Amino acid sequence: MSATVTLAKTAGFCYGVDRAVTMLYDLVERGTPVCTLGPIIHNPQVIDDLRQRGVAILEKAEDALPGTQVVIRAHGVPKQVFDLLESRGVDYVDATCPYVLKIHRIVERHTTPDTVLLIAGDETHPEVQGFRSRSKGASFVFNSPEEFRRLTQEHPEFSEKELILVAQTTFSVLSWKKIYENFQKLYTNSKSFDTICKATQNRQIEAETLAKQSDCMIVIGGRFSSNTEKLRQVCEPFCPTYLVERAAELREIDFSGCRSIGVTAGASTPAGIIKEVLFTMSEIINENETKT
Ligand code: SF4
Repeated sequence: MSATVTLAKTAGFCYGVDRAVTMLYDLVERGTPVCTLGPIIHNPQVIDDLRQRGVAILEKAEDALPGTQVVIRAHGVPKQVFDLLESRGVDYVDATCPYVLKIHRIVERHTTPDTVLLIAGDETHPEVQGFRSRSKGASFVFNSPEEFRRLTQEHPEFSEKELILVAQTTFSVLSWKKIYENFQKLYTNSKSFDTICKATQNRQIEAETLAKQSDCMIVIGGRFSSNTEKLRQVCEPFCPTYLVERAAELREIDFSGCRSIGVTAGASTPAGIIKEVLFTMSEIINENETKT
């Protein structure tokens, strides 16, 4: 019996990443000297291609030189980065995803010097740092329901403050639900905004469904991409799951005994790489059948 391969409908670039990469390539095509603050996406092949086309990757805004265009990545940057670029006379193109910009507006509109902004997310992530930089009052970050509980115990004064709760766009849906329930119980006169991106939610839900129906899962994406790693974690409890960055890595996987193979890909995986992986997989399946 031949193996079937099912590709998740949500695999590959999300709207925000696609938009940012397109904006960058447009500038490159126009011959503009361009650089990015950190890699535009966590995908080694795309980064190699951009480097060959002369796109520099800066580690910090201070390294940007006047005369170049700095492209701001989809998850945005702290407000101070824009201030710094402007003060140095450096042009920039803001490719911050509109879903992230919506959270910036929530923070700017609802915080005051007396409010406390609570963020469910990773405090080292630039997206979260971007939210904090726009808060007019104090802000706190926690990455799990347990951390949230601990924070509320350490800060009894929260009950007398106006609290604003938001989430990083890629935060876990399950953890958010627990945090939200606890928040509602503890604080009555406060505001919460479910800001988890629907693209992330749908991709994780579809990956889980596919993993439950498959003998093995292939997750295509960069090893340093947090949303690709989250997909691997979502699939792993249900079947053997392999994270690959490029098609050649499939040769190291033993597909014998796999009748149904599920494939998904992170938000920064280009369509070309997904195609290559599917092509190589069909070659491997054919070779295995011929051997049999
Ligand atoms: S995951 Fe969502 S918020 Fe993040 S860039 Fe993609 S569409 Fe925008």
